Amino acid sequence: MAKKTNAESTPAMELPAFCPHCHQSLNVYDPDGNRVWLRLVVSASGHRGELRLSPKDEGWERLSDVPLPEGTIVEDLACPHCQISIVDPASHCGQCGSLAARLMTFSQGKLRPLYICVKVGCPWRGLPKVEAPAIKVEVARQKAPEQDALLRIRNFSEVSYGFNREAALQEVSRCLNCKKPRCVAGCPVEIDIPGFIQHIGAGQFVEAARKIKETNALPAICGRVCPQEDQCEKACILGIKGEPVAIGKLERFAADFERETDAVSMPRKAPVTGFRVAVVGSGPGGLTLAADLAIKGHSVTVYESLHKPGGVLVYGIPEFRLPKAIVEAEINYLRRLGVKFEQNAIVGRLYTLDDLFAIGYQAIFLATGAGLPVFMGLPGENFCNILSANEYLTRINLMKAYAFPDYDTPAPRGRQVVVIGGGNVAMDCARTALRMGSRDVTVVYRRTKDEMPARVEEVVHAEEEGIRFRFLVNPIRCIGDDQRWVRQLECVQMKLGDLDASGRPRPIPIAGSNFLLEADMVVVAVGSGPNPALFAGARGLVRNERGYIQIYSPSGKTSIPGVWAGGDIVTGSATVISAMGAARKAAKDIQETFLQGKKD
Ligand code: FAD
Ligand code: SF4
Repeated sequence: MAKKTNAESTPAMELPAFCPHCHQSLNVYDPDGNRVWLRLVVSASGHRGELRLSPKDEGWERLSDVPLPEGTIVEDLACPHCQISIVDPASHCGQCGSLAARLMTFSQGKLRPLYICVKVGCPWRGLPKVEAPAIKVEVARQKAPEQDALLRIRNFSEVSYGFNREAALQEVSRCLNCKKPRCVAGCPVEIDIPGFIQHIGAGQFVEAARKIKETNALPAICGRVCPQEDQCEKACILGIKGEPVAIGKLERFAADFERETDAVSMPRKAPVTGFRVAVVGSGPGGLTLAADLAIKGHSVTVYESLHKPGGVLVYGIPEFRLPKAIVEAEINYLRRLGVKFEQNAIVGRLYTLDDLFAIGYQAIFLATGAGLPVFMGLPGENFCNILSANEYLTRINLMKAYAFPDYDTPAPRGRQVVVIGGGNVAMDCARTALRMGSRDVTVVYRRTKDEMPARVEEVVHAEEEGIRFRFLVNPIRCIGDDQRWVRQLECVQMKLGDLDASGRPRPIPIAGSNFLLEADMVVVAVGSGPNPALFAGARGLVRNERGYIQIYSPSGKTSIPGVWAGGDIVTGSATVISAMGAARKAAKDIQETFLQGKKD
């Protein structure tokens, strides 16, 4: 048999290593996270046990529960997961000629073989030269562990635990580091996705977070709530034949690592310019623009009508999907950038836009969102215990009704809850009701599961938690008792017709199909409208026929010179990342306007 000796090159000290058979990670880390070991099963001198190897100087440092005197030829090295031997009868040590074990490592953006000599004490580390061909290994898309469904419906703790190091390293090994990365084009804020993924692959987790933050100031939030399946992951080349790289989970991993290890550092800020910017609304749109312009050296103040900044991130999306401590940490990052926040400040009541210009702001960005509750106009919709999704979620999230009696906010409750709607908001209400102790929670939606606008992950989680779905059902009347408390919903069965203006099949009621659903609490989650308070103080601001702010350029110029707008207040209810994308465009335009030294 031809003796294969593998050329050596400088070995990577961070050794993300995988079994060549089952592709599971072979890495373990010291508790301080600074040192990586390979974990293998070793058989030697009639003993079998664990062997740990870590690259040190020119050789290996060893830890083993089996006696391994120098010079011993071990009988076998195997994977601790699948127990299959990794000793390769066709491979030999490049130094002493003994047999070599073969595993995989992620090096220079590719999976490549790594060889280990079976002679104890031999310093040889057979890493291939980087030009050696990369090995094609089918690594499955990694799944993040989650809180068990039966447990989590009794608490508000986060459902997904995210990737650990091993899963993150395994997942990045799937990325092809495309020359023309389609994933970047799918991201509204154009994160350098392959760039941050390569940093993770090299074990540079903090650098990965910094790379993301070059274009996204809220990575831990986006890594949790962005609909990646419709954006970057939808565009990923691997998705054509199989499953795309789990970009969102990797983004979360990098951001969480940076925060949890206290490694958050501030970007270099431009010198103070003297320009002042007012931002109205502190949701993801307002926060993004504030960060972008603070870095450019401008003085930025965010006006927020509620007592806490964050917009939907704090009052809408529940703790179990987006812990508030994470939103707070990302807002604190903005504070450290120098952004000022004025809370309990309703623009339109406390200040008009003219007042803000008079105070000395040269540019104003309106990001007031689409938080106006919308009802269906059903007979009986004003019975007690029928609530808008906004009120319900605000009580529970922002005002922490779930933490009663620590927080003295009354929370509406019901044993049989019906949630009307099929979007993220409906899923959040249904899952919240379950956690608040409801016995039976049903979502009614007038189209089918295929047309539901909610994120796939949210629907799957809701199903796992025992939420019931009634598709092709529309409520037409609320029925109450003599005390005016809701008791039932009269519904009608629907069928799908031709496509409507939204491109979805139009739901059509089936005559005579009426039936009753028992309900002692109803949450209406069928959409929302533009937050109206601002408009009383915005003379000359043109709105479109739906009541949202009319913009006149892709960067969000409004009818008032010096005033830009972006996010849900322009588009209607959309996504976190689309609000952030709009804000980045406005920030760029404001910056260019300032550079010209004048107001627009
Ligand atoms: P908002 O986040 O709505 O923030 C607007 C802010 O402006 C608010 O804080 C408001 O109090 C403040 N404001 C309003 N009027 C004034 C005024 N006159 N003066 C001062 N301040 C004012 N998107 C996703 O991508 N993924 C999800 O999983 C997801 N889940 C969602 C769940 C729920 C329950 C809801 C309601 C929305 C969800 N969305 C999700 C949508 C997403 O949150 C929004 O698209 C996004 O927050 C819009 O950002 P924004 O900055 O435009 O406005
Ligand atoms: Fe990696 Fe997919 Fe982006 Fe290519 S498209 S760089 S495989 S994440």
